[in-house]
Amino acid sequence: MPFVFGGEISATEWLTIVPTFLLANIVEYGVHRWLMHRHIKHMAFMLKLHMVHHNYFDEAEYYLRTFQDYKMVVFPPVVLNMLTLLITLPLAYVAFLVAGKNVALLFIATVMLYYLLMQILHVFAHTAHNHWIHRVPGMDYLRIHHNIHHDHDEMTRCNYNFVIPLSDWLFGTSNIQPRSRLTGAK
Ligand SMILES: [Zn+2]
Ligand SMILES: [Zn+2]
Repeated sequence: MPFVFGGEISATEWLTIVPTFLLANIVEYGVHRWLMHRHIKHMAFMLKLHMVHHNYFDEAEYYLRTFQDYKMVVFPPVVLNMLTLLITLPLAYVAFLVAGKNVALLFIATVMLYYLLMQILHVFAHTAHNHWIHRVPGMDYLRIHHNIHHDHDEMTRCNYNFVIPLSDWLFGTSNIQPRSRLTGAK
């Protein structure tokens, strides 16, 4: 797509995907841990919105059952709008100034694909434990990982990543051993 990118994309430019993925993982973790589970002045709507999700899918009703339930899993458009305006576009502009158009566009594309992946994996994590998707390597791990986060005793302690829990591992907040009354979602 030479009309979109500034000519051929070099191997070095393709490498933009790696640090962008890692940065997205940390942002996903930080927004979930510190904005969606803390009462921050002027940002309390994030906590409120997220608690709707946690209260809808609690220890007793963790899995998707009806089509309506999907609406309670996928993040509302305001989250993507804020992510794009406050984080993605300003950082893409810096990338454009420092490294050029290809790097800036690859950065935007990676962030958007990461966000899409996050929504899909979150839906899969709320899909019944006997669904075929959990036979795909890693999927059942993500289901258990997120299931424990939905325990009200655990949600401010662990498992903030939706995609690969790299940041949870890094910050020591990954937990796949339910330690309270939760013994697995019904
Ligand atoms: Zn969830
Ligand atoms: Zn949460």
